[in-house]
Amino acid sequence: MMYNNKPHFIIKKNLQKSKNTNIYFCDEVTPDILKDVCIRITGQSNYTYEYVKNDYSDDFLEKTYNKGRMALMFYKNIVHYISFSEKNIDGRNSSVQSVPTAFNIYYNSTYPNKKLYYYFLNVQGNAETNYQLLIYRLMNTVGFEFLNANEILRSNIKAYSSIDDIMFNRRINSHRNKSNNSTYITKNDYGEIEIYGKTYGANKYETSLMCYALSGLREPGQVIKLYEILEGNLKELPKSSLNVIGKMGGIDVVPIDRTLEKKIFKGKNSLRSPRYIYNLLSKLGNKHCALCSCEIPEIVQGAHIWPVADIKRNSIMNDEEKLNYAIDGENGVWLCENHHKLFDSHMITFDDKGRVRFKSGMEHRHITYIDKITTVNELPDYILTDKFVEYIWRREHTISNL
Ligand SMILES: [Zn+2]
Repeated sequence: MMYNNKPHFIIKKNLQKSKNTNIYFCDEVTPDILKDVCIRITGQSNYTYEYVKNDYSDDFLEKTYNKGRMALMFYKNIVHYISFSEKNIDGRNSSVQSVPTAFNIYYNSTYPNKKLYYYFLNVQGNAETNYQLLIYRLMNTVGFEFLNANEILRSNIKAYSSIDDIMFNRRINSHRNKSNNSTYITKNDYGEIEIYGKTYGANKYETSLMCYALSGLREPGQVIKLYEILEGNLKELPKSSLNVIGKMGGIDVVPIDRTLEKKIFKGKNSLRSPRYIYNLLSKLGNKHCALCSCEIPEIVQGAHIWPVADIKRNSIMNDEEKLNYAIDGENGVWLCENHHKLFDSHMITFDDKGRVRFKSGMEHRHITYIDKITTVNELPDYILTDKFVEYIWRREHTISNL
């Protein structure tokens, strides 16, 4: 490894589409910006730089265009990896597109003395939304240092201290079905951490970053499951991300497509459908019992309104239709184990206005008990959609036919 007395930058000048767009990285990351970067990292303004072409390669850069919107700065015996934001941050995910790639390049370098940074090329980027703040905090958690965040932003970008810390903050940030998240983190009834992540389009960046952060924060021996929510024929996370997730360790990647869902549906334990849980998370937000507000994810389950057993028994529908009903997020509600059992044994039911009804003829002391643990008497509007009411009807209809 070289030893540079003076900070020296090496930067690939071509972005992926430079030939078409005529926008080159060297036009965005100018020598003036490099100077600012240099001062912020080393405290000095005396530096050298070279913009290199795609065919350039060394121990740190491969023969390709500029991946990860990066500049490398060599100073003394440390390699500084600096990733730059887009100039314009418009779309919700555009700010993070290059971040997992930058992290992958940094992480895959076997050189031990390395540091990772992020630099905002745009002032607006600092006007953070809750979503951006989540991303920045995840970035900080995996090791990005923010070079030019303003003071307020800098004080808000704190690394997450634990997986629970991320889960807690996700809970605050999510506004039920309006949250539009592409990843969810929860725990199953064994207490295992589960990540549900979309893998298409811009969602893959958030999912990758979430995995890096969780892998880094996991307890020794702790296993995390990543359920990749595949849509249609769309692919898994990019190979480069899966590679790094594999190297970081601790995350079991399970691609969830329709073939697997069909297998689960036909099997005995069809309640364990990851797609169903994902759909409930998107509609209802984090696990919390709809009847007592219990938020302990280990004991909160997805309760089918129209039961899977009844769907399976239906003789009119084909398997595809049955599967659609079984995994529909509208066909369910979060219930704690107690309420789930009470619901499944029909001691508790909902009427078509979502009001909670107790089975008639139960012992008075049991009614008193159920009444005491049931703190919600009427389902809120975001649960009680038309489709949900239809499922209540189907549930009751099926019972009357038994
Ligand atoms: Zn409950």
